[in-house]
Amino acid sequence: MSTRTTLITGIGSLVTNDPGQGTGPLGLLTDAAVVIDGDRVAWVGPAAQAPAADERVDAEGRALLPGFVDSHAHLVFAGDRTAEFNARMSGQSYTAGGIRTTVAATRAASDAELDANLAGFVREALRQGTTTIECKSGYGLTVADEARALRIAAKHTPETTYLGAHIVAPEYAEDPAGYVDLVTGEMLDACAPHARWVDVFCEKGAFDGDQARAVLTAGIERGLTPRVHANQLTYGPGVQLAVELGAASADHCTHLTDEDVAALAGSATVATLLPGAEFSTRAEYPSGRRLLDAGAVVALSTDCNPGSSFTSSMAFCIAVAVREMGMTPDEAVWAATAGGAHALRRSDVGTIAVGSRADLLLLDAPSHVHLAYRPGVPLTAAVWRAGVREV
Ligand SMILES: [Zn+2]
Repeated sequence: MSTRTTLITGIGSLVTNDPGQGTGPLGLLTDAAVVIDGDRVAWVGPAAQAPAADERVDAEGRALLPGFVDSHAHLVFAGDRTAEFNARMSGQSYTAGGIRTTVAATRAASDAELDANLAGFVREALRQGTTTIECKSGYGLTVADEARALRIAAKHTPETTYLGAHIVAPEYAEDPAGYVDLVTGEMLDACAPHARWVDVFCEKGAFDGDQARAVLTAGIERGLTPRVHANQLTYGPGVQLAVELGAASADHCTHLTDEDVAALAGSATVATLLPGAEFSTRAEYPSGRRLLDAGAVVALSTDCNPGSSFTSSMAFCIAVAVREMGMTPDEAVWAATAGGAHALRRSDVGTIAVGSRADLLLLDAPSHVHLAYRPGVPLTAAVWRAGVREV
């Protein structure tokens, strides 16, 4: 059965993330073309050798890269925290407690309101080139509210993450052990059918190492794969726990010992860096350079959430990673595409190769380097998701 084919030609610079196809880790090609057949990439190569197709798009020398893979976002919520941000930027410090404000607003919202909010954020991200996005629960913190968050998230992405252990629910403030029992018991039973991943905020003021281990182990027993909010605000056991339990990703990685870095480098656990959080809390950035030099796989992601990082812009994260975290433009672009795919254990996205999903970002620029070189400038010329032109 033949499907509709599209030839994108005149690509000045093509990031394939396939070293077998071009130069360097990005597998860069110049004067290139790509053919989309249905929802897949069917052909990649020099423009001069491109086959005919039903439709032809002339990139006019612009750069084409894989759609961004945003592997860490919290998008099922209501309300905003403008006042908290304003106060923080006026001198107050960030603690995990502000999450309670969003929990109250989210519980009070209707299903339709949460669904519409999430659809709006997915669309906002797509307009900026994000074609795969992960979405966590964690603003319900009751059995019913966590399960509905994941039901709603699953309508928009297959990358759904059960984060009942975001903070201890306010009702359990005096009984954190009771809350962990709920998260690993009845709440997990209600949420597991709608989730692919299990996550925990392993941090002072949230969950300690023993509690985090209980949450992740219970999730693994229900068929979920772990990922961990680790070592964001303080040094702690999160990274070591993530590696020990075979987590797909340890996220934040801001405060790492040499042992933490070595553990990540010696494992399949991706170090996912979320510079929007440090930016928006005026905190010290993690070192991408240190992790890369040690041999760890690094991903970049937005951590989009209303409290500590209210950005859906992967381009912004790339620019900050280059300016503040010691990463080269090539490394940052790789981390925001192929790195995110690794963090989600996806081989069909994050690359442009024959057979990969046709998730493509055409930049209004001649090179992917412009994502860091021209910070804050909207550079989206076109976006295809699963072969469909969305922007
Ligand atoms: Zn997060």
